[in-house]
Amino acid sequence: MKSNERILITGGAGFIGSHLAGSLLEDGASVAIIDNLATGRWENLAGLIDHPRFHFAIADIRDAVVLDRMVSNADTVIHLAAAVGVQLIVEDPVHTIETNIMGTEAVLKAALRYRCKTLITTTSEVYGKGIRTPFSEEDDVVLGATDKSRWSYAATKMVDEFLALAYHHQYGLPVILVRLFNTVGPRQTGQYGMVVPRFVKQALNNDEITVYGDGEQSRCFCDVQDVIVALKALLDREEAIGTVFNVGSQEEITIRGLAERIQLLLGSDSKIVTVPYSDAYAPGFEDMVRRVPNTARIEKLIGWRAETKLTDIILRVAHSLDETRFHPR
Ligand code: UDP
Repeated sequence: MKSNERILITGGAGFIGSHLAGSLLEDGASVAIIDNLATGRWENLAGLIDHPRFHFAIADIRDAVVLDRMVSNADTVIHLAAAVGVQLIVEDPVHTIETNIMGTEAVLKAALRYRCKTLITTTSEVYGKGIRTPFSEEDDVVLGATDKSRWSYAATKMVDEFLALAYHHQYGLPVILVRLFNTVGPRQTGQYGMVVPRFVKQALNNDEITVYGDGEQSRCFCDVQDVIVALKALLDREEAIGTVFNVGSQEEITIRGLAERIQLLLGSDSKIVTVPYSDAYAPGFEDMVRRVPNTARIEKLIGWRAETKLTDIILRVAHSLDETRFHPR
């Protein structure tokens, strides 16, 4: 990344976007963000606001005038703005579908006008109900029926991917696609369902730790700082353009195992309880049984692998919620 590069982050007040903005400022870039504060938070920008190379607009990416102005001042656009979190998707599918499809379309149109390099983040959710794990970028996609609103999120993100690749192939827009697997770190809120901040908070408060389903479903949790290293390195490589990359950790754990690890690590008196999916989300809810990435493609191109161990990730999250008792290693 050139030190004077001008970078626009959509969704920059979110958990990943705000960490990324801070890191890019440290690298010497000029960073602008656009965020409607739907799930992003003003507090996440606290350390950035006074920086002379930081600019922000509190606006929706579908506000064409504001978006155009912000993109016109950027060399690179990193698109993170989206409706995320399974809980939010199940509760408010109209918002999810519209934000994710129309928002990405607006960003691509504006990026094309100024020919910005554009990194679009999508999600491992697009692997849907695929059972061949680990998931590789070339794998077929299997989604549930359209009356299961959970899968609408994957479908919107697939449309985003198709559209971004079409802009690349038809108009030559330099686009990179990143499928993020479960990403965790300080500032992530459990409000929209994300399991690690929820379990850590429950453990710290000695509340019941709520494992949904039988707890045998598994995930790989990647530290947000590892993800940032991957995004920045991909932007530096011409060969990344026009390609989809998985970004995630290889350290797999069941959700029950995660609850036990958190309970033990934080010395919590919490009880681990199981909650049926129908109570946690909606009747007929379908979960992903395993979500494990094959990261050979990104490893081959830039030598990236997730470095941070789950135990350290948990301690970092606990530290961000209670600095007096927990210290990251
Ligand atoms: N989950 C859970 N208890 C909670 C929140 C989530 O057991 O309080 C489960 C959820 O059903 C899923 C896993 O944890 O199987 C990961 O959920 P999250 O929403 O963090 O990510 P995703 O489902 O998108 O991988």
